[in-house]
Amino acid sequence: MKPLIVQKYGGATLADPDKIKSVATRVAAQAKDNSLIVVVSAMGKTTNSLIDLAQQVSHHPQRREMDMLLTVGERISMSLVSMALNDRGCPAISFTGSQAGIFTDDSHVNAFIKDVKPLRVDEALRNDKVVILAGFQGVSPVTKEITTLGRGGSDTSAVAMAAAFKAERCEILKDVPAVFTADPRVAKNARPIQELNYDQLMDMTFWGAKVLHYRSVELAKLRDVTLYIGPASNKTSDGTLVKKGLNMFESSKALSLNSHEKVLNVICKETHAEKALRHLQDLFAQNQIAFPQLLNCEIKNGSTEILLTGPEEIMVAIKKELQSQSSFSLSSTEFSTVTLTCTGSTSPEIPQQILEKLSAHSIPLHRMMMSPMSTTVLIDSKDRTRTIETLHTLIAV
Ligand code: ASP
Ligand code: MG
Repeated sequence: MKPLIVQKYGGATLADPDKIKSVATRVAAQAKDNSLIVVVSAMGKTTNSLIDLAQQVSHHPQRREMDMLLTVGERISMSLVSMALNDRGCPAISFTGSQAGIFTDDSHVNAFIKDVKPLRVDEALRNDKVVILAGFQGVSPVTKEITTLGRGGSDTSAVAMAAAFKAERCEILKDVPAVFTADPRVAKNARPIQELNYDQLMDMTFWGAKVLHYRSVELAKLRDVTLYIGPASNKTSDGTLVKKGLNMFESSKALSLNSHEKVLNVICKETHAEKALRHLQDLFAQNQIAFPQLLNCEIKNGSTEILLTGPEEIMVAIKKELQSQSSFSLSSTEFSTVTLTCTGSTSPEIPQQILEKLSAHSIPLHRMMMSPMSTTVLIDSKDRTRTIETLHTLIAV
C-alpha cells in the first residue's frame, strides 16, 4: 500500500493557469509513490473579489448566501487542478466538501467541522485516483445547507481529512515556504523555523500568524496529525515540521513574533461585561456579521472595553455598524498587537526585555498581556513596524 499524504495548496500557488499546471506536474510526480488527497484554496484573490461583488449588491448579505457564493472559489480551483492532472495521464477526480462528507454544524460563514464521512474519497483512492478536494467548505447534515469554515479555512479541511484517513502527514504548501520568526516583509532578518510543537504554533496563529488557520493547528494537535509547512515549488528542502515531543529541556527562549495589524477597541457604557458582550453578539448576529476574534475584555472607567480583531471585511462591517449605535463607541486610536511567542513564560526576563526595547525606541505601550506561551503588547498601529523590527532582535540566531 502506498503511504497516504494530504497536501493543501494555497491560493497564491494556484493564482493563474500556469501555476495550476505546475502544481499538477508536481502532484502527478508524487502520485507515483503516494496516495494523495489534494486540498485546494481559491485561486489568488478570488475570495476577496467574491466578497467585493456581494458588497456591491447588498449592504447586509445573508450569511447563507455568502456561503453559496464563496464556495464557488474553491470549486473553480478543484476542477481546473483535476483537469490538468488528467491531462498529464494522472487519473484524478474533484469533490466539493459536501461530496467528500465534510459535515459541519449549521452556522454559516464560520462553521465548525463535526464529522468526516469520506465515502466517495475512499472509493476514489481505492481506484488509484488522486482526490482533489475543495477546501474551506462542508455541509450541515441538519439543515442540508452548504457551509464555510471562515477565512483561511482550507487548512482546517486538509487537517480534518488527514485525521479521518490517519494520513502519514498533512503538508501545507505555499509561496511562503515555512513558518518564519516574523513576517519577512516587515522584519528583514526573519528566518525560517525548522521545528515547532503544536502549542507554539497555536499561540503564533492565535496572535496573528497568517501562515496557517488557527483552527487547523488546534485540530492537528487534537488528532495527532503531523503537519509540514513548506514550499509549493519543487524545492524539497526548508519547511517547518510540527509535531509533539521536541528534543529539549527547560529554557527561556524567544521563538517568533506575530501581530494583529488592526485591533478594534469597542467601548460599551455598561459595567456588567456579560451584558456588553451579549449585546454585541446580538447586534452582529442581527446584521449578518460573523463574530470576530475576541482578544481582551476589561472594565475601565465605568465601561466595558472589548478588543476585537478579524478579517478586513469583518472589521469594516463592524466599524460601519457601530457608528450608528448609541450604546457602543470605538476608540479613535488605531491599535495593533505584537506578540512574542516564547518558552519559559513564567520568568520575567523576556517581558522585561520587551519593555526595555519599547522604552529605548519611545514606543508608547497601552497594555501588556501574558499567556503560557507568550507576551503580547498593545500599541498604536502607527508603531507596529518599528515594534516588530526592534523586538525581532530578541530572537537569538
Ligand atoms: N479561499 C478562502 C479564503 O481566502 C479559504 C482559504 O483560502 O483557505 O479565505
Ligand atoms: Mg484563499
